[in-house]
Amino acid sequence: MADGDHLYNTYKPPAQDFVRGEGAYLYTENGDKYLDFIAGISVNCLGHNHPAPKAALMEQADKVWHLSGMFQLTEAKKLAKKYCDALPFAEKVFFTNSGAEAIECAMKTARKFHYDNGQPERFDIITFQGAFHGRTFATINAGGNPKYLKGFGPALPGFIHLPFGDHDALKEAISETTAAILVEPVQGEGGLRPLPEVCLRGLRELCDEKGILLIYDEVQCGAGRTGKLFAHQWAEGAEPDIMAVAKGVGGGFPLGACIATEEAAAGMVPGTHGSTYGGNPLAAAVGNAVWDEISKPEFLEQVERVSNFLKQQFESLKDEFPDVVSELRGKGLLCGMQLKKPAVKIRAMMLEHKLLGGSAGDNVLRLAPPLIITEDHVREAVGILRTCFQQANSLEDFET
Ligand SMILES: *Cc1c(COP(=O)(O)O)cnc(C)c1O
Repeated sequence: MADGDHLYNTYKPPAQDFVRGEGAYLYTENGDKYLDFIAGISVNCLGHNHPAPKAALMEQADKVWHLSGMFQLTEAKKLAKKYCDALPFAEKVFFTNSGAEAIECAMKTARKFHYDNGQPERFDIITFQGAFHGRTFATINAGGNPKYLKGFGPALPGFIHLPFGDHDALKEAISETTAAILVEPVQGEGGLRPLPEVCLRGLRELCDEKGILLIYDEVQCGAGRTGKLFAHQWAEGAEPDIMAVAKGVGGGFPLGACIATEEAAAGMVPGTHGSTYGGNPLAAAVGNAVWDEISKPEFLEQVERVSNFLKQQFESLKDEFPDVVSELRGKGLLCGMQLKKPAVKIRAMMLEHKLLGGSAGDNVLRLAPPLIITEDHVREAVGILRTCFQQANSLEDFET
């Protein structure tokens, strides 16, 4: 077996072996430099080798690595306070190691809320077509993507999947067994589809009216990615009861969190939930350092500035290549374009030109660069995309 063949074959990585990162670039052993416009899928928000989280990690490594929630988790408490001070709805936080675990905690919190309020029959979670909430049993069932469910036994009860943006179907689907609506303010995997602000407010009103909970999955679109700390903050008056975060909040160190109102989380008492590593001192120390960077007003202003520039550049690309680009997608620096050529082939071509990107549902080219990029990085990326689109146009058999 060749090197690496002992890993599960669940990914199909290219041959490049990145041994070092600096800012928006990754380097192979022999020094080849790649512009990273995917950032571990929306994870490395401060780019690679950022001094602040690195210093926090090193400092904590000298103190204590692990304790578990059975002891005082001081770094985690500090970070939870920051989230709660910044978000009007937020009062209680459960830390996890990943996005899927944060979603699991969110769904358990919602069910427990109704159970404790004398409505144990309210356990259904409503989600929408194109959703992605993780790869555990519960989260593949929440997402409802048949591709991810196939081969893994019967579908779990307690999940209702609705078409995206169908208001009537949603109103009809809510019943006395509904516990919560779970939604990404900007769909990631599903094809970078932002939910309009008016819909987020509409969901809030509907949940209030029906006595059900609103859960946001901001695992991919949170942590400053859209130019606000969290994507739902673009919509005034659309606060959730519960929100799951991960990816960017750890900046590359495994960290997630389920953030809730005190009322929603009231039933999550000792014995109801746990995680050995949740709130781990190393993870929380890094989380604090990442938060201190991304929550600076000037940091978010720069994200907004550079994403507006990127959007203009993408508009020109779209005008220039009507046979390649069909639609611009996303919000802020969770962005991309729906293509008329196979997105995975374009992505492979970008790799040859040393630009890293991703793909998503709906034949979308997905880009999620580190939030520290400048206009120059955007120009470099757009230059490479132009070269790839020209090349794709000139190849007759590119479609196949
Ligand atoms: C990545 C992702 C998850 C799952 O996070 P993991 O850390 O991979 O478990 C859940 N929801 C959304 C929106 C995501 O993008």
